[in-house]
Amino acid sequence: MTQTPSHDATSSKSDCDDCDGRCCRYIATELDRPRSKRDYDHIRWFLLHQNVTVYIDRSGQWFIEFQTPCRELQPDNRCRIYDRRPRICREHNNDDERCERFDASPYRICFNNEQQFERYLTKRGIDWQFKALR
Ligand code: SF4
Ligand code: SF4
Repeated sequence: MTQTPSHDATSSKSDCDDCDGRCCRYIATELDRPRSKRDYDHIRWFLLHQNVTVYIDRSGQWFIEFQTPCRELQPDNRCRIYDRRPRICREHNNDDERCERFDASPYRICFNNEQQFERYLTKRGIDWQFKALR
């Protein structure tokens, strides 16, 4: 499942009006919980890239998040294609408990780089390193 919320860009007055459209500035999608060295290595690879975060939410679900704004987000923080915005955008609004502006952080644990993730694994005694590198 992909999480990409959207703000109510046309309402005459709403809490979205003075928000910076933060729900339109990233995409996030679920990840299977990593269980193998290959899985851990993939997450290290994700985290070597700029503007990528991997996190575990409050329910224990793993996500990858890309901090990249939607092309249709205008300088005034309104949606250029509001009438034909994706359904996932329509299903998200500022009454939704997922609204980033009012909800506390969705993160239970957040990794912004591979070192943070390696420390997390090492602290839990997880053997994540391959024996031999080619
Ligand atoms: S983060 Fe919340 S308040 Fe801000 S634009 Fe999105 S839905 Fe509206
Ligand atoms: S399509 Fe519109 S509402 Fe959806 S993320 Fe882009 S700017 Fe936001």
